[in-house]
Amino acid sequence: MRLDIVTIFPEYLEPLNVSLVGKARARGVLDVRVHDLRRWTHDRHNTVDDTPYGGGPGMVMKPEPWGEALDTILASDEDGREPVLVVPTPSGSPFTQRTAVELAAESWLVFTPARYEGIDRRVIEEYGERLRVRELSIGDYVLAGGEAPVLVMVEAVARLLPGVLGNAESHRDDSFAPGAMASLLEGPVYTKPPLWRGRGIPEVLLSGHHGRIARWRRDQAFRRTARYRPDLVERCDPAALGAQDREL
Ligand code: SAM
Repeated sequence: MRLDIVTIFPEYLEPLNVSLVGKARARGVLDVRVHDLRRWTHDRHNTVDDTPYGGGPGMVMKPEPWGEALDTILASDEDGREPVLVVPTPSGSPFTQRTAVELAAESWLVFTPARYEGIDRRVIEEYGERLRVRELSIGDYVLAGGEAPVLVMVEAVARLLPGVLGNAESHRDDSFAPGAMASLLEGPVYTKPPLWRGRGIPEVLLSGHHGRIARWRRDQAFRRTARYRPDLVERCDPAALGAQDREL
């Protein structure tokens, strides 16, 4: 998968060199290219922003550098891939695990993390006529820039790519994962030692009985979801709930 990220703070994306994403890059699973937007400015001050039409506080990112940057990047494809333009914005649709799964099926994502009050709307309109655009919010709060949202999205997508997680099964039971645990948060997890500061672990996990363990995990997931995210339980497909869930 190829990822292009255009930003005025390329150094903000340095975490993409470490851990899971860094290893995926080193193994060639991910081809990440970070671009400095100021490369496509032509004035002495490398200006990327200007005052908003209609007045008001803050600055807006100018369309010209974005247009030149995106034209250059989109023309640089070597493999005939069809890009998806990912625009982080608090006014986008929510980025969820489902979105991560959809993006993980793509071969080329181009991210446009903004600063100030965002990018001149005409840029999104212009590229929306040529390619698929996803305007995505990572949550109902406002950050100073889109770089942290890009780090969030790239990590969520990268761990779904084949060959990235050491154990491909690891994300099967994650919170929000499709399948038996769909729409549920993951319950508690334990490892060795069996006794720590006088605290043991639930007996069932030592039973070796896969059916009982699976049932226990699902019960725990259900209890946790009901406690912290009752909205998810309400949205759950009733057919997906067993009689045992209803008793909890
Ligand atoms: N005026 C904008 C609004 O209220 O929607 C906020 C602009 S914010 C200060 C600057 C940039 O940070 C945004 O254009 C976007 O790239 C990024 N950003 C901030 N919060 C975000 C969020 N929750 N999800 C995704 N991107 C976000």
